[in-house]
Amino acid sequence: MRARPSASHFVDGRPVEDDAGDPIDVIYPATGEVVARVHAATDAVIETALASAARAQREWAETDPAERGRVLRRAADIIRTRNRALSELETLDTGKPLSETLVADASSGADALEYFGGLAADVTGQTMRFGQDWAYTIRRPLGVCVGIGAWNYPTQIACWKAAPALAAGNAMVFKPSEATPLCALKVAEILVEAGLPAGLFNVVQGRAPQGSALVADARVAKVSLTGSVPTGRKVAAIAGERIKSVTMELGGKSPFIVFPDADLDSAVSGAINANFYSSGQVCSNGTRVFVHEDVLEEFTRRLRVRTEGARIGDPMDEATDFGPMTTEAQLRVVERHLATAREEGATVLGGERLDRPGFWITPAILAGVRDEMTVAREEVFGPVLSILAFREEGEVLGRANATPFGLSAGVFTRDLARAHRVAAALEAGTIWINQYNLTPAGMPFGGSKASGIGRENARVALDQFTEVQTVYVGMSPVEAAF
Ligand code: NDP
Repeated sequence: MRARPSASHFVDGRPVEDDAGDPIDVIYPATGEVVARVHAATDAVIETALASAARAQREWAETDPAERGRVLRRAADIIRTRNRALSELETLDTGKPLSETLVADASSGADALEYFGGLAADVTGQTMRFGQDWAYTIRRPLGVCVGIGAWNYPTQIACWKAAPALAAGNAMVFKPSEATPLCALKVAEILVEAGLPAGLFNVVQGRAPQGSALVADARVAKVSLTGSVPTGRKVAAIAGERIKSVTMELGGKSPFIVFPDADLDSAVSGAINANFYSSGQVCSNGTRVFVHEDVLEEFTRRLRVRTEGARIGDPMDEATDFGPMTTEAQLRVVERHLATAREEGATVLGGERLDRPGFWITPAILAGVRDEMTVAREEVFGPVLSILAFREEGEVLGRANATPFGLSAGVFTRDLARAHRVAAALEAGTIWINQYNLTPAGMPFGGSKASGIGRENARVALDQFTEVQTVYVGMSPVEAAF
């Protein structure tokens, strides 16, 4: 076992084991070997995590916000100094190549901790006047928050949720995906090393039952989930029973539109990043690539040549730029989608299973895709890029928006007016113009329609980990009717 963590959970400031919980094997996706084993949290572990979070949060809420911020910024510094070790762990957990994890995972987590660390002392209210009377507002922490993560970005998701929650004075109990349980444990250890008091960031392992138990607990004020739309519905329903606040970062089927005046090489690069980065396991991926008829042939040719040049191989080799899928189950989902796409008439280039241990499939480009095909309607969550032809701006906008999802979108054009007009008309939470999938900590990120509620990153995320308390101040004697 190459990645043995000190224990399955991190609770009340220390590693905690309880092997009475169901075992969860951690599989290195590149080889299929078991690299670690953790146990799902028992009721006792969940109880300790929630009780310690509730206790620690009361004091944390009273801590000088500037001090809260210093702790987060120290954690960011530690993460940066350990970037390589954390990146190797991320690669072991997810199978994503080091060429990605060295620049996109621990570092993105550090960015969030640094950003919200800087904002912590700037959580302010408002004042309003009503004649002589006036009112003011205070932004109060919510209390104990639950974070639940998907398996594609385990370090980043843990940090994106922990950083604004802790900066605002909350505690968090975080449940990673059962597929990638290791990275969040390291985040918890580092936060404590940076001076975070025990109990404020707890990590408990488990599957749906453990996640649901956390969400349902009366001590929990808010739930922030990154996951699929079906899971989002279930988690929001449980939270709704007790009128808890939710942030839902869910799936997508995002449009990526290439107009004929676009810088074609840049658009091809964008489409590669928007479909094949992290072997396509990115929620915001621009998987419906709408290409104007005038450039369709040339775009497809360049995309194909460059995709065939992808270096597929050992994720621990920094020269590799395309790794395996994270789980065997997800690999099968991708294979099913490719088979259905073929049956429905798409031309599939690539998408071949590699004959080696681990969960390997080559990037797939689907030509001749039509809107009604399953692959153009459902989230695949894998390296499957669908090309759809279009003729008119109005036509492509209607087709781009004809989906229940609304996470992201991309538009490639040199026409400034068109770029902004199209961006304004797209029904999506995040839109990139002549770029794709960049998510700096200072920029709100999240979905509309079925893709989610609330935003991560930027000041809006901090606001969503607080509630507004209003205080009305009467300045004159009270008059009454009798
Ligand atoms: P899932 O929805 O399967 O799981 C997400 C998390 O929820 C996991 O930790 C899972 O546990 C947990 N979970 C599952 N069922 C329940 C339940 N009933 N109650 C509480 N918790 C539960 O998503 P995946 O992990 O498969 O991730 C892929 C999905 O996530 C895709 O749809 C993708 O688009 C989306 N995603 C969205 C992002 C965004 O920011 N919008 C970013 C990344 C991914 P376990 O895995 O252990 O079963």
